[in-house]
Amino acid sequence: MFRRFKPLWGKKPGLKSTYDAVIIGGGLHSLATAYYLAKEQGMSNVAILEKNFIGFGGAGRNTAIVRANQRTQENVPLYKEALDLWPILTKELDYNLMFNNCGNLNLMHSEAAMNAARMNVCTAQFHGVESHLLDPRQIKELEPAINISPDITYPIHGAMFHPPGGVIRHDAVVWGLAKGAAAHGVHIHQQTEATAIHTDGGKITGVETHRGRINSPRVLVSAGGYSAGIINKMMGVKLPISVLTIQAMVTQPLKPVLHHVVSSGMYHAYANQTLKGEIATGAHMDQWPNYTTLTTAHYIKHQAEALSEFLPFLRGVKFMRHWAGLADMTPDMAPIMDGNDPVEGFYMNCGWGYFGFKSCTAAGRHMASFIAKGECPERLKPFGLRRYENHRLMGETAALVTYTPDN
Ligand SMILES: Cc1cc2nc3c(=O)[nH]c(=O)nc-3n(C[C@H](O)[C@H](O)[C@H](O)COP(=O)(O)OP(=O)(O)OC[C@H]3O[C@@H](n4cnc5c(N)ncnc54)[C@H](O)[C@@H]3O)c2cc1C
Repeated sequence: MFRRFKPLWGKKPGLKSTYDAVIIGGGLHSLATAYYLAKEQGMSNVAILEKNFIGFGGAGRNTAIVRANQRTQENVPLYKEALDLWPILTKELDYNLMFNNCGNLNLMHSEAAMNAARMNVCTAQFHGVESHLLDPRQIKELEPAINISPDITYPIHGAMFHPPGGVIRHDAVVWGLAKGAAAHGVHIHQQTEATAIHTDGGKITGVETHRGRINSPRVLVSAGGYSAGIINKMMGVKLPISVLTIQAMVTQPLKPVLHHVVSSGMYHAYANQTLKGEIATGAHMDQWPNYTTLTTAHYIKHQAEALSEFLPFLRGVKFMRHWAGLADMTPDMAPIMDGNDPVEGFYMNCGWGYFGFKSCTAAGRHMASFIAKGECPERLKPFGLRRYENHRLMGETAALVTYTPDN
């Protein structure tokens, strides 16, 4: 006897003709919004439309790093709230999200970068986020695998250490949130593409899909790298978003050797060791806008060269798999979360770049409140689209503390 496979998020629901809210995209932010809409806002007649399968986008491709030590006073509290929610969600969803709060070490390779890191640490500490500066000797004590020798291309001057950050299994987050949302009555429609958004008299009236029309007074576009295209095509609103490819890869499994997430803006590389022993590593993005999810030999070579300098134990280790996904980048590297503009009932949550995994819990929770009540929560107010029109960009690009030779 074979047991039939039953997805965690229950039986495939039928597509109803009317929902209270429709969410376009089956990624992290959509699933989190739907979960909190149903659980905390009492709105469970909600449909998620996903043109492929849930987790197809950045949700299933990211390198699973979470942290709260962003740069600006608007962003740090949001990411702190998101970080604090992981252990709570693990219990609430009754699903092991595999949160490993191993801490993040952000390496600095110049005195200018150390000064910038000082500012980050101060902002973080001001908002109650644990973050410290370390000198090279302290780095070596904490993470012996790091090469602090002065004989590398970019010698290490110090690091920003953020103990509460770490990694979480990204697929588990997708499945856990889908399980939780479905248990509260949300309909998850996979292989269902949204093709148009309908409006009438300045209000949202529904969404067209290739399976038919759905009536709804509210629609949220939360489709990662595809959001800007959807919003431009379906609503005629052009967003200041460029879509770039980010690549990542894993090595063969090794014995436990790397105990923190280690990143270097200067080398454009970061790495952590997964529970399976592989070293998962990612880097900066391709420098030209595109929608491809292909990997390149150039990037693999760059990664090998960078890692073998500051993590020399990786010399000679084999890469086993590589993949790529899309990053929707705004000019200030902060997201766009907005609603009821230009028409009532229209909401958007996008522009997360490569920060969209770590933030999805808190962002989804506040978006749910926004959609249910129609009023923008205080925490989301700084992230409105009109900040670009009003020249009120955030300084979140500094969260990277990169200081590469060309900037
Ligand atoms: C290689 C890589 C590494 C990364 N590492 C990290 C990291 O370590 N930490 C971190 O915080 N972030 C990281 N990110 C970024 C993070 O993954 C994204 O910011 C996040 O996934 C965005 O979530 P989302 O819910 O907005 O969109 P996504 O998860 O991308 O989901 C969007 C979904 O919308 C669907 N869709 C598109 N068009 C339609 C349509 N017309 N109708 C229906 N559905 C549609 C897509 O199929 C897709 O499933 C990384 C990204 C990549 C690519």
